[in-house]
Amino acid sequence: MQLPQFDYHAPDTLEKALALKGNLGGMAPVLAGGTDLIVHLKQRLFSPAAVISLRNIKSLRGIETRADAIVIRAATPLAEIARDTSIQEHFPALVKAVNSIGATGIQAFRGTIGGNLCLQPRCILYNQSRFWRTGKGSCHRTGGKDCLALPGSESCHSVCSADTVPVLAAFSGQLTIAGSGGVRQIPVSDFFTGKGESPFKITPDEMVTEIRLPLPWAPASSAYHRLGMRSAVDFPLANAAATAIMQDGKVETFRLVISSAGPAPVVLKEAEALIRGNKPDGAMIDQVRLMARRMAEGVVVENSSISKDYRIKMLGVMTARAVKDVLGFAGPDR
Ligand SMILES: Cc1cc2nc3c(=O)[nH]c(=O)nc-3n(C[C@H](O)[C@H](O)[C@H](O)COP(=O)(O)OP(=O)(O)OC[C@H]3O[C@@H](n4cnc5c(N)ncnc54)[C@H](O)[C@@H]3O)c2cc1C
Ligand code: SF4
Repeated sequence: MQLPQFDYHAPDTLEKALALKGNLGGMAPVLAGGTDLIVHLKQRLFSPAAVISLRNIKSLRGIETRADAIVIRAATPLAEIARDTSIQEHFPALVKAVNSIGATGIQAFRGTIGGNLCLQPRCILYNQSRFWRTGKGSCHRTGGKDCLALPGSESCHSVCSADTVPVLAAFSGQLTIAGSGGVRQIPVSDFFTGKGESPFKITPDEMVTEIRLPLPWAPASSAYHRLGMRSAVDFPLANAAATAIMQDGKVETFRLVISSAGPAPVVLKEAEALIRGNKPDGAMIDQVRLMARRMAEGVVVENSSISKDYRIKMLGVMTARAVKDVLGFAGPDR
């Protein structure tokens, strides 16, 4: 498949990139590692007038450890994150998520954390060649007026399939977003609109510049579990991340985020309230699994390579595994 024609800009400062974004906006997406965007261009899912490459902007790469947080700049390669010793020490679930992405040779060295966070949500009826899509007709995401996966639906249900998203949200990550209107911060968990056709709360003149992960105030644990069809080069079909700080046998802080259900990750607040402040037991973990399944039943549609029912069930299983892992529970899946 050939690429369409577009102008290529490779500014060497963030200011120049933002000026281009200000002028070209939605006509010119950001090109980070390109491992997702290039596939979209080849499949003619986008045909932009230009792309703005981040490759020459040194200030958008690197990891900085501060007194209260670790800051990862948006164009930092995934491999750099996986081998950073501070991230390995404080955020091991992020290392696990990064190491789950695609194939090491491609995604780890070319793919970036910003590109993974802003990964376009996926749908088996959309992420196909133009030829394949012609036979199916258009949908909300390709200029049509309906959803092929859930006819009659007013918006798109394509799926947030990025490995790092639930983990960054479970670590209470904060994004810095820069644009012509200045710089703003937003929690990772609030960055998603819940609509597949316009998945992120970001305007065409803006880009993500960094992700701030607050350092835990006491020894903490974290866990990430995902279901894939293969052990590599495969997007997650169900994934969940949990973080906890235990004190005196009780869970002092607890956060649980489920993803790969719909266009946005879901913070399972009901489960957080159940576990926080308690000495959890097997029955509580079973309750959390059922909460995750109930949430998934309201969100999942028939648009991935596994059936809707199996995805709902496995979202419950992945959630229970993440919770058991983070709280140090043994025991079989149910
Ligand atoms: C075969 C294959 C397997 C894959 N498997 C996985 C997988 O298992 N898990 C997974 O999560 N992903 C997977 N991916 C998708 C992709 O490789 C990764 O998500 C990767 O991290 C994307 O990063 P990138 O830098 O290459 O993004 P790019 O392709 O450069 O960008 C992705 C999107 O993010 C936007 N973007 C990039 N940076 C910014 C920024 N700073 N601000 C605003 N917008 C931005 C781009 O405009 C684009 O829309 C796979 C891809 C392929 C082709
Ligand atoms: S979920 Fe529906 S609207 Fe969205 S890409 Fe798939 S078929 Fe199109």
